[in-house]
Amino acid sequence: MSIQVFGLPVSRGVAIGRAVLVASSRVDVAHYFVPAERIDQEIGRLRLARDGVATELQSLKHELPPEAPAELAALLDVHLMLLHDEALITATKGWIRDRHYNAEWALSAQLEVLARQFDEMDDPYLRERKADIEQVVERLLRELAGQAGGEAPATAAAAKAMRDGAGEDPLVLVANDVAPADMMQFKRSVFTGFVTDVGGRTSHTAIVARSMDIPAVVGAREASRLIRQDDWVVIDGDTGVVIVNPSPIVLEEYRFRQRQSELERARLDRLRHTPAVTLDGEAVELLANIEMPGDAPSALEAGAVGVGLFRSEFLFMNRGGDLPGEEEQFEAYRAAVEALQGLPVTIRTVDVGADKPLERMSQQELRHEHGLNPALGLRAIRWSLAEPGMFRQQLRAILRASAFGKVRILVPMVAQMSEVRLIFEALARAKQQLDDAGRAYGPVEVGAMIEVPAAALLVERFLRYFDFVSLGTNDLIQYTLAIDRADESVAHLYDAWHPAVLQLIEQTIASARRMGRGVSVCGEMAGDPAFTELLLAMGLRSFSMHPARIASIKQRVLRADTRRLAVHLDEVLGSDDPAASVAALQPGGALH
Ligand code: PEP
Ligand code: MG
Repeated sequence: MSIQVFGLPVSRGVAIGRAVLVASSRVDVAHYFVPAERIDQEIGRLRLARDGVATELQSLKHELPPEAPAELAALLDVHLMLLHDEALITATKGWIRDRHYNAEWALSAQLEVLARQFDEMDDPYLRERKADIEQVVERLLRELAGQAGGEAPATAAAAKAMRDGAGEDPLVLVANDVAPADMMQFKRSVFTGFVTDVGGRTSHTAIVARSMDIPAVVGAREASRLIRQDDWVVIDGDTGVVIVNPSPIVLEEYRFRQRQSELERARLDRLRHTPAVTLDGEAVELLANIEMPGDAPSALEAGAVGVGLFRSEFLFMNRGGDLPGEEEQFEAYRAAVEALQGLPVTIRTVDVGADKPLERMSQQELRHEHGLNPALGLRAIRWSLAEPGMFRQQLRAILRASAFGKVRILVPMVAQMSEVRLIFEALARAKQQLDDAGRAYGPVEVGAMIEVPAAALLVERFLRYFDFVSLGTNDLIQYTLAIDRADESVAHLYDAWHPAVLQLIEQTIASARRMGRGVSVCGEMAGDPAFTELLLAMGLRSFSMHPARIASIKQRVLRADTRRLAVHLDEVLGSDDPAASVAALQPGGALH
């Protein structure tokens, strides 16, 4: 039976494929693909975990005191039986062998299948056995977590493993949530689209999806419960509709739309080498946002004239507390700088915390570890300044990379003048340390991200110290409107068109221009064509976005006249509904 689920469209286009379910939030495990040559070893891990749990259950049973109720021993017997049940172990091996899932993922995938079967049972006694199977799987997962050898393969091997496991049909990823670090694993994968239950438009998971340029829908609430492994799924990344097991007619309609959007992409691709200049002759800088040095070539291919935001925190994630040292970071930054062949690379100092924890965590664990409100807690520059040795190490690595090309440093979430002082002190010390060690570094500009209203209001004061600013609109919207950017329950209130947000952006751009300093926007707004003309009218000439967005924005720039909307700017900013007011001014709009 065909069903529809609705969520937030976050990455355009239509994807059609078979569902690959990543386990629900109930069990929070790593998901990665295992290369063909490691399949037997992975099955060995499962076998070892099963034997470990069997021994544990046996000894629990033997250690039961004589006065313990008989039901307890019977329960342990049931768990032992489930542990050897074909429906669990053989099927789990199947996921590993056929789909190349790691053992943890395979187990949780099979748990989903079994849980559904139990839910559908009429007999209440049998229905309750679901809890037993969950407990057994949890024991197995804990056992696996304690084993060596369960690491995700390096990206290239992972990509190959995914292709090996894909078979003929295209695959789409369906999950309750995908941690940003897991998304990186999936980045160069075979998935042609993805859906998650949670997340907002600018959650980091959505951002990574957009960078992959595959159709995606987030905040689809029940999707991972309603969709089953292997269901055929249509993901409409333009409208947020997800159709499960579509009828042949609906499928044909979507295949047609898929072909149309591929043609549109091919057409836009041809703009790659066209300079971004408006109709009235204003040159506009279109830069790329990247997450890893390996993304740099796609920035060049897309026609970016530099990197406006390298989110360095992705180098720091999921390393079990073993953070990258100076050499490793230096190599990564140098690789990006060299790949850009003389074009500028803006490296943002680490921005962990909030929805980008260092380790893979559920929302609940995140709260526990990082306080009640991680978005307002020790994140970004606050974390760096709390770990001064780590911060200087990163600064040294970035400075050293600047000997190989044009590098700019960008500091996230600055809000206090005291932080500004500490940042420049750390930088001076890092330079001194390099001088003492006789290490080379080039000249670097230092910029602040404007993503907290306090920073937007004090931008002129900040610019007495910083060389440039970059508007992080994703966070600026979150902090101006007090809306968690990753929370789908308030996603309808997360509004980039809010007059207060636009006012802060306009003032920041105007202040920087008055002072003759560089200003760009590197939040998702920069890659949204609905805002291009308005931002140009505000005076913005530098936009940084995912490489996949550059061609669409360039098309907007080529058709824009910066003077046309500029004369209406006060009217738009003063309007209660700026989106409607901009729409009315468009060709064909009510006021045009
Ligand atoms: C932003 O906040 O707009 C931004 C670019 O930073 P991030 O999305 O990584 O928080
Ligand atoms: Mg930010």
